[in-house]
Amino acid sequence: MGPPGAGKGTQGARLAEWLGVPRFSTGDMLREARRAGTELGERARRYMDAGELVPDEVILDLIDETLRGADASRGFILDGFPRTETQAEGLGDVLARRGESLDAVVDLQVPEEELVRRLSARRVCPECGAVWSAEELESGEEGIPCPECSAGVEQREDDRPETVRRRLEVYRTQTEPVLAWYAASDVPVVAVPGTGPVSEVQRRLRERLTEGAET
Ligand code: ADP
Ligand code: ZN
Repeated sequence: MGPPGAGKGTQGARLAEWLGVPRFSTGDMLREARRAGTELGERARRYMDAGELVPDEVILDLIDETLRGADASRGFILDGFPRTETQAEGLGDVLARRGESLDAVVDLQVPEEELVRRLSARRVCPECGAVWSAEELESGEEGIPCPECSAGVEQREDDRPETVRRRLEVYRTQTEPVLAWYAASDVPVVAVPGTGPVSEVQRRLRERLTEGAET
């Protein structure tokens, strides 16, 4: 867990590779559904573009279906889910049915000014999915070629300033309380600073998660 721009996707993908497990990102799945023009994608569109959360029952169905279909036998990483207490409760039910439980909840912490900086500089490649910061590209303009595949990069609709403000507010009011909810349950909540180089954050994460496994 972490606010928008904390680096959940970047760090989650690296952790998943290290652990040899799949990563399920509800944000990525919703964007994929939108690109594919499915009913789910259509339903999610207006919430996402406004920086609001997609309704809990939609997300819970999506997760339930995803976990059923995936090879999750060695575990998995959830990225951007759960985002409300209702989702956390729903996840608890899904896991209980599967005879599984969470090993840890990661709280990736980044100060608000840094989040706003990162999100306004974020550019994404619609072709290969690579995520860049405007500083890594020739300029912040849309259409600049992706260094990976040379398709024109774009700014995510919800990374525009007005929407960013709303997403941060939604995180503080609806998602942050989920951390306290987990802290009150018996799932370890591991707080990790998300600032500094990507590799450094990843090193911290691995260190903290390994400690957790030993105690
Ligand atoms: P970020 O964490 O940077 O906001 P995501 O890609 O995780 O980016 O999410 C983008 C948008 O997708 C959210 O603003 C929200 O509208 C929707 N979304 C993603 N995950 C969830 C979820 N678990 N519950 C409700 N809405 C979600
Ligand atoms: Zn690309």
